[in-house]
Amino acid sequence: MSFQLLSESKPTARKEHRCDWCGEQILSGETYFRYSGIDEGEMQSSAMHLECAKAMEQDLAEFDGCACDWGFRPHEQDRGKTSYETDERRRRKALEDTR
Ligand SMILES: [Zn+2]
Repeated sequence: MSFQLLSESKPTARKEHRCDWCGEQILSGETYFRYSGIDEGEMQSSAMHLECAKAMEQDLAEFDGCACDWGFRPHEQDRGKTSYETDERRRRKALEDTR
């Protein structure tokens, strides 16, 4: 996946949105992170919680390899957590479940 960021802003939601990162709702009246860019040649615009946008930034910073290979699974991460933190929590939970 290659993604080229074109713009980002922090508007106040006038209606509900779904967070691209964690899949939870962004409530009307909440300040959120909106970004648009070109993903695989297609214009895309997405919304995220502010803490999820932060987690995404951290995720990208921790990514071991070319940023052009970085990607994330939409709606799959824990709110405000990086994909590594989410995977770690799931791994622990899976271990606990087998006990
Ligand atoms: Zn979120």
